[in-house]
Amino acid sequence: MINSRILKKRKRIALVAHDHKKKDLIEWAIFNKTILAKHELIATGTTGKLLEENLDRPVKQMLSGPLGGDQQIGAMIAQGEIDVLIFFWDPMEAQPHDPDVKALLRLAIVWNIPVANDRATSDFLMTSPLMHEEYEATIPDYNSYIKRTV
Ligand code: PGA
Repeated sequence: MINSRILKKRKRIALVAHDHKKKDLIEWAIFNKTILAKHELIATGTTGKLLEENLDRPVKQMLSGPLGGDQQIGAMIAQGEIDVLIFFWDPMEAQPHDPDVKALLRLAIVWNIPVANDRATSDFLMTSPLMHEEYEATIPDYNSYIKRTV
């Protein structure tokens, strides 16, 4: 049996940007404002506040990333509450919460959700016809893992 999950037309998009990448994310979000308007936005605390101010629309804000926000978004992915992750992480600076960053990126792959980590990929994602359609995402079969004997 193939497990799957339906990503509805209106996607729940999580957005996260490290401090030196926030300007980039905000510019990108303004550029893509019309497309983003069709979807629900969720973000880590500081990123969410900036998005709300710059897009002039509500953005659900979790805790700030280093204070647990990355983990909250990771948990939402695991619970099927996030459909797309836009995560501008900073390749030039170590973060105090590097383990959380790795955990978030890992969970996005565990649950097979679309992830973009830079502007170019985010643009490709936003212009995909699938952003505006229902999409059936397969979920890897973890049953044998769950039922394993240890
Ligand atoms: P922030 O968190 O949006 O609260 O700054 C981002 C991050 O995870 O570093």
